[in-house]
Amino acid sequence: ESYRRIKETDPSIRAFITLNEEQAREQAAELDRQLAAGAERGLLFGLPAGIKDNIVTEGLLTTCASRFLSNYNPIYDATVVKKLKSAQSVTVGKLNMDEFAMGGSNENSGFFPTRNPWNTDYVPGGSSGGSAASVAAGQVYFALGSDTGGSIRQPAAYCGIVGLKPTYGLVSRFGLVAFASSLDQIGPLTKNVEDAAYVLQAIAGYDPMDSTSANVDIPDYISALTGDVKGMRIGVPKEYMGQGIDPKVKEAILAALKVFEGLGATWEEVSLPHTEYAVATYYLLASSEASSNLARFDGVRYGVRADNPDNLLDLYRKSRSQGFGPEVKRRIMLGTYALSSGYYDAYYLKAQKVRTLIKRDFDNVFANYDVIIGPTAPTTAFRIGEQIGDPLTMYLNDICTIPVSLAGVPAISVPCGMADGLPIGLQIIGKPFDETTVLRTAHAFE
Ligand code: GLN
Repeated sequence: ESYRRIKETDPSIRAFITLNEEQAREQAAELDRQLAAGAERGLLFGLPAGIKDNIVTEGLLTTCASRFLSNYNPIYDATVVKKLKSAQSVTVGKLNMDEFAMGGSNENSGFFPTRNPWNTDYVPGGSSGGSAASVAAGQVYFALGSDTGGSIRQPAAYCGIVGLKPTYGLVSRFGLVAFASSLDQIGPLTKNVEDAAYVLQAIAGYDPMDSTSANVDIPDYISALTGDVKGMRIGVPKEYMGQGIDPKVKEAILAALKVFEGLGATWEEVSLPHTEYAVATYYLLASSEASSNLARFDGVRYGVRADNPDNLLDLYRKSRSQGFGPEVKRRIMLGTYALSSGYYDAYYLKAQKVRTLIKRDFDNVFANYDVIIGPTAPTTAFRIGEQIGDPLTMYLNDICTIPVSLAGVPAISVPCGMADGLPIGLQIIGKPFDETTVLRTAHAFE
């Protein structure tokens, strides 16, 4: 059924880079055999899953939507992929993204842009745009994405589905091709909140293979979906509802807050005063970490190697010039500059300090409120081509998601209405490792 839907819809949406049809059919048949032999069903038994193409899958191409890795066939599974297998979901294929997860529209894919299923002239968001579009188009039951500054939540909002970025450290990053290691988190993209709880249940948990993995007890996310938000205290940051937000998005968020009032919750305006510095801080830190992480792509160890180099240095230079796209090069240059001696203190170190202030903004609000609610993105999806020539405008799409990533706290995007035929996303942000409250709040609203 999944492949039938893909054949029908993917020529216009183009969510997939690689399909896994033969192995998926074998895997499904094997599950049927086990069931017939009396085995118990796993948590995600038989559910067709799409995997973002920066999560490594054994024997299945993993390109990060980069020409550099167009021939990279990993010899191991990421921890999340192993966990999905033991929960008995079936891997349908690998989903398109912005190259190395750098971008917010899928236009930075090294191969082709994915299109928004609601209107194919519009972007699906990014960087997990293939994941969001595939779920929205009904090609897969759920998808995994990665979120560094909004890459799960923003495409979920643009495509009218649910996207959850867990607390930094809750889900193992082992086997996720690193973009900015202090920010990257894997999470689910699903049709509804209940499905997100199931997928999170399957993938969360300590992993000794990831040194930043948190050794915390994993609660029962599914039974947390009680529908009860009576007495809940909601903070609404004025910085997310002011300048730059589309009036129709703002109206939809205010209408959602009315729904919460009706459910017995209360809300007040709060302030996250360092929000205005978040985008600059993020692009400095994320680019610095990226420039360091992407040093491993030298044309020797991974992926495509340039032909006819004059010497070793020339091999590096040619492979990297040919392999990386323009946005990736822009970030490597920015990051290398910020990390170079003489500039390190002025830029990287300063940005680290601002990151701490942003984290404290959240701590202060969470001292008095259970969750923070606002828009996921200031606008709905934009047209393909509309912002590609203007990286700064593109960067500002993430103004509501980036601070959350810098603070490391969990957040979900749930659909909250439409404007001009395109979906709007509501963002619910929680305390560290309080995914149960985030999911419960989202589920009550849905
Ligand atoms: N759009 C942001 C960026 O380009 C976020 C990307 C992400 O979360 N991976 O960095």
